[in-house]
Amino acid sequence: MVELDALIEEIPKYQPGADVDLLTRAYEFSAASHQGQQRASGEPYLSHPLEVAQLLVGFKMDVTTVIAGLLHDVLEDTRATKADLEREFGKEIADLVDGVTKLGKLAFSSREERQAENFRKMLVAMARDLRVLMIKLADRLHNMRTVHYLPDDRARKIAQETLDIYAPLAHRLGMAKVKAELEDLALRTMHADAYVDLQKRVARRRLEREADINHVIAILEKKLSEVDIESQIRGRPKHFYSIWKKMHDQGREFDEIYDLTAVRIITSSVRDCYGTLGVVHSLWKPVPGRFKDFIAMPKVNMYQSLHTTVIGPKGDPVEIQIRTWEMHRIAEEGIAAHWLYKEKKSGKDKLDESLLWLRQLMETQQDMKDPREFMDTVRVDLFPDEVYVFTPKGDVKALPEGATPIDFAFTVHTKVGEHCVGAKVNGKLVPLRYTLRQGDIVEIITSPNQHPSRDWLKIVKSTRARAKINQWLKTEERSRSIELGREMLEREAKKYRLNAAALLAGEDMRRAASDLGFPSVDDLLASVGYGKSSAQHLLNRIAPGPLVEPPERSKAAAARPKSEPQGVRIRGVEDLLVRFARCCNPLPGDPITGFITRGRGLTVHARDCLTVAKSVLDRERLINVEWDVEEPAQRPVRIAVYIGRDRPGLLSEITGAISSQNGNITKAEVTVTADRRGINHFVVEVSDLNQLQGIMSAIRDVPDVINVERVRGL
Ligand code: MN
Repeated sequence: MVELDALIEEIPKYQPGADVDLLTRAYEFSAASHQGQQRASGEPYLSHPLEVAQLLVGFKMDVTTVIAGLLHDVLEDTRATKADLEREFGKEIADLVDGVTKLGKLAFSSREERQAENFRKMLVAMARDLRVLMIKLADRLHNMRTVHYLPDDRARKIAQETLDIYAPLAHRLGMAKVKAELEDLALRTMHADAYVDLQKRVARRRLEREADINHVIAILEKKLSEVDIESQIRGRPKHFYSIWKKMHDQGREFDEIYDLTAVRIITSSVRDCYGTLGVVHSLWKPVPGRFKDFIAMPKVNMYQSLHTTVIGPKGDPVEIQIRTWEMHRIAEEGIAAHWLYKEKKSGKDKLDESLLWLRQLMETQQDMKDPREFMDTVRVDLFPDEVYVFTPKGDVKALPEGATPIDFAFTVHTKVGEHCVGAKVNGKLVPLRYTLRQGDIVEIITSPNQHPSRDWLKIVKSTRARAKINQWLKTEERSRSIELGREMLEREAKKYRLNAAALLAGEDMRRAASDLGFPSVDDLLASVGYGKSSAQHLLNRIAPGPLVEPPERSKAAAARPKSEPQGVRIRGVEDLLVRFARCCNPLPGDPITGFITRGRGLTVHARDCLTVAKSVLDRERLINVEWDVEEPAQRPVRIAVYIGRDRPGLLSEITGAISSQNGNITKAEVTVTADRRGINHFVVEVSDLNQLQGIMSAIRDVPDVINVERVRGL
């Protein structure tokens, strides 16, 4: 087991002035918190945070990170709280530990590659501070080192997740050593036999190959010292997982992969790297197309080296890598190697500096295929254009920044999107315009009566949702236009006492459609509905004879008694049956418009109602109406009340608020979820908009009410 003293001794070597007293206190706090807990290995639990801290020291992380490493499991596994940590160790350390704890709660369930990529991105995005990822990787590395103490199925699950998520993450961060160890440990867990077999074969072949490699090294050492280049030359072992994967994926033999002679030359300066390359190429013939200059053009994960392959002394290809010590450190440790380059002050500065460093890195990139790849991966939220959210089953969905539950619903399924009425985010009801945040768990609530509206286009952010909504509106508009065209033709026919149904179904109608160049009767009707073709012209075409208007057609209507007061005044029309549209349910005070509907008389809509917006082409059907303020009528209206926490007496306080404003409740639907949140619907009779607003603000004042909304429709 690692001892605290080892850490205290090591950290000041690379971070002079590090606060080792705080480190000691963190050790004592962690020891006290984990008191009595055991690892699966039987060791005291404290051994785990100590090993994690030790690994972080190995990455040369600052003392703050090492302390957070010592404390990384106390929020998860003990009674200590974030407030305790903040009091004892300050906000920076508390935030780091909290960050690691949050990452630990993300469950990765899917085996799909795209999901894995999204998940990796999300890990990075959620780790507001890159040091959180360092702690997480150290944590995973130690857990993998001890994974064989766990039951087989659990061990395999952790190993698979390591291959899917953490090894690629280490790679993206340039931490080759960590990546290789994670992969080898995962291979040992998942394919123990293959692992042991490889171990034996590598050991056996190594003895055989050693002489060849040593021969190459001896020649190189001699030549390099002749030109005064100081160097260290090593054979380059491949890690087991990379051999196994090549054999497995490419169906190649062990010998083909392993027998390649590979050496690495480490020098003390960039100049010596190029000097060494000259020496190598003068000794042996380079294989064309194999030379790569990753010093002038570093890889996306900061990797720098010269690569070349030459035909060696025995006529076999020899792979050679040339790099400086600094490049070597970066190649092995990646982002960790960059950590202590500059004096850091606070967490905020660190973030800015890591951003600056990334920017500088990007500016030096020239050769990468997708220059945004690394940037996107390392700090998604530094360039805020994507959020990562979960389905209730734990699948990750990537959405554009600012996306709403509607965007999410359309990624689940088109039908879910089209019928989406609301959503629960992290178990709490939210309105459709809610802006999704990193890591939200989103559950969509659907209703068969719900349909997309043009308003949705204003709040969705994803191209998919936008396209699907437009598509729905277009289809809907067409079927509405067909219906409208039919109604207009019928109305026109009625004027001349003609049988509209017979005419519409007749052969003349079909002929008219094809003569006018429409693919079908429906298309012709749609054209009438859109206002592109005239109903009267069409009727003229299909009527059996010339159109003659019958006399005195309005006398009977005028004789009918005046209808009851209905709260609206219609210019020029006295005896029309008036109904209020259920889709928008306007209240006195709302701007309104009238809409003639076949067989139903006048329907009053709110002026901003979508149904009206869709029928603007059909001007003759729209009629100006206004509220009759002299003969007001009570109108029902539906309101939704969002409850944060249900408690005794809450419902009576809400109904009391409604009554206090003289609202008359005609219907109440109360829904409370298991976690005591809820959404209550009330239908209340009011005389106008003012009264409704009074009622809503009275409800808003009731404690534990989160929001009150007027629901269009009843
Ligand atoms: Mn842990």
